[in-house]
Amino acid sequence: MNSQPIQKSNDFEASQPVCPRCGSHNIRKNGHIHNGKQNHQCKDCGRQFVQNNRKKYISNSIKKWIDKLLLERMPLAGICRVFEVSATWLQKYVNAKYAKVSRELEVSTKTPGKLIIECDELWSYVQNKQNQQWVWLALDLETR
Ligand SMILES: [Zn+2]
Repeated sequence: MNSQPIQKSNDFEASQPVCPRCGSHNIRKNGHIHNGKQNHQCKDCGRQFVQNNRKKYISNSIKKWIDKLLLERMPLAGICRVFEVSATWLQKYVNAKYAKVSRELEVSTKTPGKLIIECDELWSYVQNKQNQQWVWLALDLETR
């Protein structure tokens, strides 16, 4: 009985090429295609393929969409499938975002939601009528 967990192909992060047809790791190099990328051929099924570049650039518009879907509580695995980003990349992206958001929340808890102030004014003459002094008192009702 095989007790090994099943490894999903999209979680496979090793640099070793994998056959997209049969999943075999039994691959040989097969020259280069027109744009200079390494071509491979599967020794098991004969399929030729060019390995996807895993460090692909993720554009800002895709990140915006990912942000929206995260707010909708879309599962990370679903986002990976829709945008074809790696689970590793998405987890790092979410962690970075979460760290930023929790810092913002920390700041906002330090400012009270409502500041009710009680104002008082009094005035008096100091020494003579030309020297009018006003005193303003402003108190936060909750904390005084
Ligand atoms: Zn194959």
